[in-house]
Amino acid sequence: MAVAADRGAYPQAVVDEFKRLAEECSICYQCGTCTSSCPSGRELYRGPRRLVRLILAGEIEAVLKSDDLWRCTECGTCTEVCRMDIDVASVLSRLRKLEREHGGAISCPERTAADVAAVRLRKQPRIDNMRFGVAMMAKGHFPKDKVGAAETGMKIAKQMLPLGRKRPAGVAGPAPEGTVTLPFYAGCALPQDHELHRLVHEVAAGFGVRLDETADAGCCGHPSRGTVDTQFSSAERVYTACPACDASLAETGVEAVPLWDALTERAGRSSTIDLRAATRSFVPYVGCLADRDAALAALGDAAEQAGVTMEVDYPTLHNGCCGALGGMYRGATKASARLLELAAEKHAPVVTTCVLCRDNLHSAARELKIDVPVHFWPEYFRAAEHAPEERTDD
Ligand code: SF4
Ligand code: SF4
Repeated sequence: MAVAADRGAYPQAVVDEFKRLAEECSICYQCGTCTSSCPSGRELYRGPRRLVRLILAGEIEAVLKSDDLWRCTECGTCTEVCRMDIDVASVLSRLRKLEREHGGAISCPERTAADVAAVRLRKQPRIDNMRFGVAMMAKGHFPKDKVGAAETGMKIAKQMLPLGRKRPAGVAGPAPEGTVTLPFYAGCALPQDHELHRLVHEVAAGFGVRLDETADAGCCGHPSRGTVDTQFSSAERVYTACPACDASLAETGVEAVPLWDALTERAGRSSTIDLRAATRSFVPYVGCLADRDAALAALGDAAEQAGVTMEVDYPTLHNGCCGALGGMYRGATKASARLLELAAEKHAPVVTTCVLCRDNLHSAARELKIDVPVHFWPEYFRAAEHAPEERTDD
């Protein structure tokens, strides 16, 4: 590793770790595939390729003071695509740890969000959006989408009123014959929107699925960016509503499956359930943490079953950053702007498999004044009883 002028400013432990990282990256030939494949690549100031180059150059300060470390969403794509098999995502994760232990100069919203989440999760099992927002504002980070923040605040306040919509405990009454029960992990965000939470249970029931939800299940840990371990464990496969939860639970060995994929697959196998969609076409969005190709394939399957068109453009558009790098809506991104423009051109809504991405794309549409509806999967797809084929032989 080259020796940078700032070497003296850091403890030996930091210099040694940098030497190890440089050793691991020494075969990098700067092809740039990592950055071009990164869902947040167009939003990052340097991106993974240039960060690797700075590591090789021994530029400790430049690396440890780069916001990119925290704007990276840990999706792992850079590692998957690196032709030299460098585990770039892990290099960035170790740099975040190093920055946390020896840096501290970074004050970007994502870094602060990770700290706020870590502090909260050491005290509480889950992230409370309202308290999280207040804590971020106390640190000088105000919501970019003030209308959206006000709407969320109003909704949560209404839910707290005596007559407010109570958190669903699942679908009431005995389960109809043939119903299957699936263990469901709702994560932190969904249960804070009682209406949407109830909808997920009701839509699943339409597919003959009863969701067995662990009430008050703890946070998957993702918001703390690896500082606080997941507060949820399960020996059995669980069905989820958020790609971030999938990624974090998978890291702890929990088999997590997107609920929508399971419902789509169930409708596909069933002779009594049809899958219906709210419009004749839609533009898919699966979020940067999802297994993009698998998530797009499941949405494509749902579209085919429902007899509607899934409008797609280049693949990374459908998982490019939605504007919340690492936890806080930061504004419309190049990817979200292009995605919303595509939906406007096609006169079609955006359908997403992640509730947080839905909210961020809502905010981006408001910010860009693009009149496009953004739906969460259960707001767009429904199960319907199979209509027997019309008899034509009379
Ligand atoms: S993909 Fe791998 S080899 Fe190419 S620039 Fe990125 S880290 Fe280097
Ligand atoms: S882990 Fe994902 S977001 Fe982070 S640099 Fe790699 S590709 Fe980009």
